[in-house]
Amino acid sequence: MTAIATLGSHCALQVLKGAKDEGLKTMLVCEKKRERLYRRFPFIDELILVDSFVEVLDQNCQNKLEQNNAILIPHGTLIAQMSSEQIESIKIPIFGNKWILRWESDREMKEKLMREAKLPVPNPVASPSEINKPVIVKRQGAAGGKGYFMAASEEDFNKKRSELISDRIISKDETLYIQEYAAGVLAYLQFFYSPIKEELEFFGVDQRHESDIEGLARIPSDLQLKNNKVPSFNVIGNSPLVLRESLLDEVYTMGENFVEAAKRMVSPGMNGPFCIEGVYDENAKFTSFEFSARIVAGTNIYMDGSPYYSLLFNETMSMGKRIAREVKEAEKTNQLEKVTT
Ligand code: ATP
Repeated sequence: MTAIATLGSHCALQVLKGAKDEGLKTMLVCEKKRERLYRRFPFIDELILVDSFVEVLDQNCQNKLEQNNAILIPHGTLIAQMSSEQIESIKIPIFGNKWILRWESDREMKEKLMREAKLPVPNPVASPSEINKPVIVKRQGAAGGKGYFMAASEEDFNKKRSELISDRIISKDETLYIQEYAAGVLAYLQFFYSPIKEELEFFGVDQRHESDIEGLARIPSDLQLKNNKVPSFNVIGNSPLVLRESLLDEVYTMGENFVEAAKRMVSPGMNGPFCIEGVYDENAKFTSFEFSARIVAGTNIYMDGSPYYSLLFNETMSMGKRIAREVKEAEKTNQLEKVTT
């Protein structure tokens, strides 16, 4: 029998609860400092205790997972704490497409795939001297918005960059990525693509809440200037959103275009959960600044099922459970290699 394994962080509880509900064995690679937390949840069958998550690469850990026919579910912590090479070197099967995770981590590859998918992406700004409208300045990889800042001119950029360097939030030689700022309502569109059914499902939408940028809106503008810290986009949590129904058709089209582009650019394509992240402007036009090629933590708000999945399934279906269902279906029909890499 197959087991479902993941790292103890991000959306591990949802993933393992879903797997248990589907009757699969559950395994957690757990940092010792979090053992007490995860032991509280009886649906976790086995903990593999480690000092740090990189130990998942060790032979010992991989052997334990292999003996249980485990499939590893990748999430944001795996991406944040390991390089693409390390992730690609993992021997046990990874749910979805481990090769596409590199495209998520590398800004240039990311933009290439988003353009191939015809997603409306904000224009990149090649150098600080070309800043002539509000921009957002980002770090490489998934930093969860930490150390990101907005700038209005080259001078503003240099001043804020220096402040963040002296506060040791970014390093002096870090390459920063500058992009036009897209204003509007944040919407993170969560999907699941089943390579078994060859079908795209729209799961739900969430919003990220980011400090300090959100808190700033509650401070009158004259006082904002007195608070001379560079406001960051550090993610604190997520909340649910439902879209105007008239927007749904375009949402499916964007998801399908992304799946098709991924099939062309990075075999075997965008299998499993993914997310297209962006904003809707005042004309309900979507601009997308990011994708995640795996389950996002924003799906945690729908552990009990999402509004859109309640339209597709006559039962409670979380994203964690949907993943386990796909694994079970693949196992039953001898297609496990289709849903893993
Ligand atoms: P993740 O943790 O999702 O991997 P990340 O570090 O790759 O995040 P982004 O998702 O690109 O970062 O950006 C972080 C936040 O910055 C977004 O949630 C959004 O609030 C804001 N943001 C990013 N790009 C833009 C943009 N072009 N216009 C407006 N806001 C943006």
